[in-house]
Amino acid sequence: MYDTLPLATVRTQVPVPLRFHDGYATTASVFSFNGLVDGREHLALGLGDWAGSLERSAAGGPAPLVRPHSECLTGDVFGSQRCDCGPQLREAVERVAAAGGFMLYLRQEGRGIGLYSKLEAYALQDAGLDTYEANIALGHDEDERDYTVAAQMLQALGVEHVALLSNNPDKADQLGRLGVTVTERVPTGVHLSPANAGYLAAKASRAAHTLQVPFCPLTCGIWVGQGFE
Ligand SMILES: [Zn+2]
Repeated sequence: MYDTLPLATVRTQVPVPLRFHDGYATTASVFSFNGLVDGREHLALGLGDWAGSLERSAAGGPAPLVRPHSECLTGDVFGSQRCDCGPQLREAVERVAAAGGFMLYLRQEGRGIGLYSKLEAYALQDAGLDTYEANIALGHDEDERDYTVAAQMLQALGVEHVALLSNNPDKADQLGRLGVTVTERVPTGVHLSPANAGYLAAKASRAAHTLQVPFCPLTCGIWVGQGFE
């Protein structure tokens, strides 16, 4: 595996205590890297007993739980209700910490089109386009995310097998082609709010995400389901 992947190495490993708005706390081992192909400052967060999960995996046991999360400034930092990134990030940190594994924090904002373009796409969505149509109208692909750096980070961390925490089949396909052995796909929860229902419906119908969007009365920002397949 990883035959053709450009080599990356760990640059720094440092503990960072995390505390979320709802009081959940854990400590991450934050890794930075040298040699990532796009030159951006991507991070890996080792969570829970990540070291033990590597040892167990190497001995033929279950693979570490790995969540690739693409940066979303508005959702991750400001709690935007236009998407489900903030609750997805929060859920993933706790689930990966419980299982032992890694969150890969990928600096590819707005499906890879960038922050300003994402805001322009929001404006087009308010004029009636869905999230994918808006990207096309701006001259971008539907989804420009590339997981090469995710595979490079996993290689540098010594992760050969992963249990992939994701509803997105494209992530598993890309990682597989890059040499990562995905032993299992673990679905994430559905985080529905009145403002992101259209966005989630577009993800489900346009990108074959394995989630179902249930009817939501007034559960704004509340996690309403898990394990939809
Ligand atoms: Zn988002």
